[in-house]
Amino acid sequence: MKICMIGSGYVGLVTGACLAEMGNDIICVDEDAAKIALLEQGEVPIYEPGLRELIVRNRDEGRLRFTRELADGVKNSLICFICVGTPQDKDGSADLSYVLRVAGQIGACMDDYKIIVDKSTVPVGTAEKVRDTIRAGLDSRGLSGLEFDVVSNPEFLKEGNAIQDFMRPERVIVGTDNVRTATLLKELYNPFVRTSNNPILIMDVRSAELSKYASNAFLATKVSFINELAILCDKLGADISHVREGMGTDERIGPRFLLAGPGFGGSCFPKDVQALIATSKSYDHTLEICEAAWKANQRQMRYFAQKIIDFYKNPQKTTIAVWGLTFKPKTDDVRESPALYVIENLLNKGMRVRAFDPKGMENAQKLLGDRITYTQDAYEAVAGADGLAIITEWNMFKSPDMARIKDLLKTPVIFDGRNLFNPEEVRGHGFTYFGIGRG
Ligand code: NAD
Repeated sequence: MKICMIGSGYVGLVTGACLAEMGNDIICVDEDAAKIALLEQGEVPIYEPGLRELIVRNRDEGRLRFTRELADGVKNSLICFICVGTPQDKDGSADLSYVLRVAGQIGACMDDYKIIVDKSTVPVGTAEKVRDTIRAGLDSRGLSGLEFDVVSNPEFLKEGNAIQDFMRPERVIVGTDNVRTATLLKELYNPFVRTSNNPILIMDVRSAELSKYASNAFLATKVSFINELAILCDKLGADISHVREGMGTDERIGPRFLLAGPGFGGSCFPKDVQALIATSKSYDHTLEICEAAWKANQRQMRYFAQKIIDFYKNPQKTTIAVWGLTFKPKTDDVRESPALYVIENLLNKGMRVRAFDPKGMENAQKLLGDRITYTQDAYEAVAGADGLAIITEWNMFKSPDMARIKDLLKTPVIFDGRNLFNPEEVRGHGFTYFGIGRG
C-alpha cells in the first residue's frame, strides 16, 4: 500500500520503517529540514535499537523515502498517518496544535480519496476535530464533495523495544465505523499478527482514542502503587523486592510494572496521565485514582532526590556521580526523565553533578547545559565524587566493578534508584547503600 507518515520522530520512523519492511511504499514527511537531510544520508536522528538498519535497508530497496514536502507525501499515498507530537498544554490537556495544523495542511493539498489515521496519542473527540479541519480546507478549495475517512489507530510501542513491539504487537486498535476502511487497515496490519494470532481490535473511534490513555494511566498507576509501598517499606524495614515477588506471582497481578524506582517519566506517561485527568475534568468527572497516581509520582521523584540530599551535611562541597539520564534504558529520550528532576534538585542545593549515560548525553545537555559535567564513561563520572546515584537501569550499570567504584569515590556511598544491587553484597564491599524500599 502507498502510505505517508507525517511526523518522523520515534513513532513515525518506527511505523514507517516497519510498514516498509512488510513491502509497503512509505514516504516519511517531517518539517524539520535537518532531520530529513540526516535520514536521506542514512543517518537516524534518534537512538532506537535496530531502527537504523531497518531504515537503511528499506531505503536502499526503494520502499522508504523522506521528504519535507507534506503535499508530496499526501498526494502519493492512500493512507496518511499523523504521527506528530501532542505535548502537554499549560492546563495539563494535550496540545493539539500540531495535529490540527497537519489536518489543515492535508485539507489544503489532498485531491482524491484518503484515509487519515491518527496515530498520535490524542484525546477523545480529536478525530472529529481532524475531520472538521480537513473538511474546512476542502470546502475553501471548492472540493466539498471529496471523500475521506479519519481513523484512530493509537500506538503502543515502547521506546527501547519499539521495533519488536511494532513487529509483534500484543494488539492493534483501529477505531472506525467504516467497514471498508476497517478491512483495509486489517489488511495492512495482518502481516504483523499472522504468527502470533494477536487481535486487531476494531471499535468506535472514541473508544479507540480512550484505550490508549486508559492503558498508559493504568500502567502509571501500577508504578505509583509500588513506589508508594516502597516508601512504606523503608519505614517498616521490609524489602519491596520481596513484596513485589509476593504480589507479582499472583497471576491476577503479575510482576510487570512493579519495580520500585525514582518515579515514572518519559514522553508519554506524564503527559498522558495529565491529559486524561484534564479530559475528565472537562466532562465534570474526577479520576481520583489517576490524580493520586500523579501525586504519588511527584512525591516519589522528590523522595529519591531527598534521600541523597539528606545524607550530606555540606551540599555545597558535595559532588554526586549520576549514572543514567534517559527516562529508561535503550533510548536517547530524556523527556520528563526522573534523572533530570533529581539532578535539578541536587543543583538547587548547591551540589555538583558528574553524569554519564550511554545514549542520552546529547539530549540531556540540550536541557541542562553546562550546569553539570558530562563524562566519557561511567567510571570517569565516579572519580572523585562523594557518592554514586544510579537513576536509569542500563544493562551496563547492573554488574559494575565495585572495587573500582570504591577506589574512585571519595566516600563509598551508593544510591541505587533502581534497586539493581543486592544491599548485603554492596555493603559487603564496604559501601553505604541506599535503595528504594529496601528497609
Ligand atoms: P517526536 O517529537 O519524536 O516526533 C514528532 C515529529 O513530528 C517531529 O520530528 C516534528 O518535527 C514533526 N512534525 C511536527 N509538526 C509537523 C508538520 N506539520 N509536518 C511535518 N512534521 C511535523 O514525537 P513521538 O515521540 O514520535 O510522538 C508522536 C506521537 O505519538 C505523540 O502523540 C506521542 O504521545 C505518541 N506516542 C509516542 C510514543 C513514544 O514512545 N515516543 C509511543 C506511543 C505513542
